[in-house]
Amino acid sequence: MSKEMAVTTIKNRLPEEISSPVLTFTKNQVSSTIVRKAISDKNDNDDDDKKSSSSSSSWEIKNRPQDVNIADFLDTASFLFLKVLDTIDDAYTHLRRLQAEESYIDTSSTVVDCLEQWNDDTDPRPKLLVIGSGWASHACLKIVDSLDTGCRVLCVSTKNYFLFTPMLASSSVGTIEFRSIVEPIRDANPTVSFIEGSISDIDPTNQTACIILKSGTISEISYDVCVYACGVQAGGNGNSISKVPGVSFTNCHFLKDVSDALRLRISVGNLLERASRPGLTDNQRRNLLHFVVVGGGATGVEYIGELTDFLRDVTSKERKGAYALLSSFTSITLVHGGTEILPQFDKPLRTKAVTTLTDRGVDVRLNTRVAKVESPTLVKVYKKKDDDDSEQQQQQGEDGSVYKEEEIHCGIIVWAAGTAPVPLTYKLLDKLPLSTKQKSYQGRIPVDPWLRVTGSPPGTLFALGDASVIVSSTTSCDSYDGQLEDDDGDRKEQHQQHQQQEDYILPQTAQVAAQQGAYMARLLNRKYCLSGFTTLPEEENHAKESTSTSITARSRPPIHLAANDGDISSLVRLRGSVEAKPFRFLNLGLLAFLGGGEALSQIQFGGSSDGNSNGNGDGGGYKINEAGSTGFLLWRSVYIVKQVSTRTRVLVLFDWFKCKLFGRDVTRL
Ligand SMILES: Cc1cc2nc3c(=O)[nH]c(=O)nc-3n(C[C@H](O)[C@H](O)[C@H](O)COP(=O)(O)OP(=O)(O)OC[C@H]3O[C@@H](n4cnc5c(N)ncnc54)[C@H](O)[C@@H]3O)c2cc1C
Repeated sequence: MSKEMAVTTIKNRLPEEISSPVLTFTKNQVSSTIVRKAISDKNDNDDDDKKSSSSSSSWEIKNRPQDVNIADFLDTASFLFLKVLDTIDDAYTHLRRLQAEESYIDTSSTVVDCLEQWNDDTDPRPKLLVIGSGWASHACLKIVDSLDTGCRVLCVSTKNYFLFTPMLASSSVGTIEFRSIVEPIRDANPTVSFIEGSISDIDPTNQTACIILKSGTISEISYDVCVYACGVQAGGNGNSISKVPGVSFTNCHFLKDVSDALRLRISVGNLLERASRPGLTDNQRRNLLHFVVVGGGATGVEYIGELTDFLRDVTSKERKGAYALLSSFTSITLVHGGTEILPQFDKPLRTKAVTTLTDRGVDVRLNTRVAKVESPTLVKVYKKKDDDDSEQQQQQGEDGSVYKEEEIHCGIIVWAAGTAPVPLTYKLLDKLPLSTKQKSYQGRIPVDPWLRVTGSPPGTLFALGDASVIVSSTTSCDSYDGQLEDDDGDRKEQHQQHQQQEDYILPQTAQVAAQQGAYMARLLNRKYCLSGFTTLPEEENHAKESTSTSITARSRPPIHLAANDGDISSLVRLRGSVEAKPFRFLNLGLLAFLGGGEALSQIQFGGSSDGNSNGNGDGGGYKINEAGSTGFLLWRSVYIVKQVSTRTRVLVLFDWFKCKLFGRDVTRL
């Protein structure tokens, strides 16, 4: 191999190569070649080449032409181009609204009572009810046209703020402050009315919703279009969120909301103080400072990353940490039921995650499940027995495996192994006329490819984000074809394509929720007829009153009535398409913080929704994988860019700087 240039084909890379930061670039099945310009004349063999990969100064990425799937590439490129156009469109709507905000707030006719405004019959604009203030709702509110040309918008949520969840783990140990990652929802769009309260019931047929205000007052309101984005919960009303006995707020800590992070921060502080008290045995101190995290997904792993940093910080003897004398008593155990942590990431990154955590002293227990949480300080686990034995035995199905039980004593249990639908979602599912198949999505509300809730009057109820799941047209609408007899050939062909789609099950992530929120706002801003009907209003009303089967059977893609009648300006705005395109997710990749200035970053364009659909670490699309300190830089850069306001961006930067300078605050207030 030349001294100037070392060529590494990713296909031949072994997982262990990732122990130093690496760059990989993947197109469908591994098809790319990285040509690395050597920086040192000493790199005269492959081994040296691998060692120096972390310090290389320049990378050149080449695709072998015969491996490039042109159709796939063009599809991704055109999709990205359309996304850019959408973003310009959104920015225009946003700017137009910013200009109008001044006069909107100053106007003398502003009514303080937002329900009075909502029920004002003289206002011709349709009534859009948005439930929730999370990722999906925030994205929708930010760009929805709520001026004279758009809708009357009312947002109802149990919280009056938006939370940047990816940084919740950081706030739970004091790396950043809670207020740095929340944004008042009223600031997202001042022309939208907001009520802090809980929606207790929705009647999809009559298009009404029941609001319980914080004061206890109950109001019923009607809507024309409702956007349901209530997300999921980690636990509620003290109920167990898991089938595992003992998983409750009393025994476990969760990480879903600011209140969870605050509770966790206080509890960890309490444990450090308790372990510092005189008269304890070493064993008691060890148990108090033993942290058990259940669940090796992104939330569990990121919390461990933050916790290891926190403990190193406050127990460091060199840095004269506040609890330096306790440094030898702290320990962390990660309990994970699967064979690998972070299953969404590519294989080499998953391997890197385990190595990093283990190197930092975390006891990573794979193939280990929680049998019961006995108390806040005792958890019973069972582990696949002899998993170091023959590979054949490890590959046996769960039923055939042999397990051994073990008790783990600890100071705190953090449950990061799953979520559950909020009670309102169950209530809504009960009201919808759904088949057994349509109800089989683990409490997620089935929606059609345009995010309309299956079984609701067409175009009136939409569900986005974690609470929903896109099911195929065949599942969401049984007799679709029969309605298309009068349509022209193109539309019919397009409909048949939708019908042939499989369920489009997307991961429950902020990325998906935010893209769905923006998609929803665009459907409204572009004034599609959301039901897809071209019939007269009387007939639509009749349809609503008729049986649920006929409602779903009548579902069609949202259609633009003016463009359908040949209106050129509308056609230009809709880029030549009379029908709304179904929602399509642009996968931008995954990030996970590991602690110690290291992170995994799997930047991706296109490809499968979870980035890893085939389980072999290749979900298609164009990828750049980074691990270690470069991954950490990417992680921080992306999160700063993704902040929803300049205020939070500045606060987060300031908190990072403060933490670097003074360490984490351990005061117990
Ligand atoms: C710790 C943590 C880290 C995460 N990290 C990442 C990450 O790095 N990347 C990523 O892509 N995703 C991440 N996620 C997942 C991401 O946060 C969710 O996928 C996203 O929040 C879903 O958005 P949503 O709008 O559907 O729901 P949410 O954001 O959960 O919002 C739901 C909203 O509904 C409101 N609500 C609930 N019930 C009612 C009711 N009855 N009446 C009125 N309002 C109600 C709630 O107050 C809330 O405002 C993380 C999640 C957690 C918990």
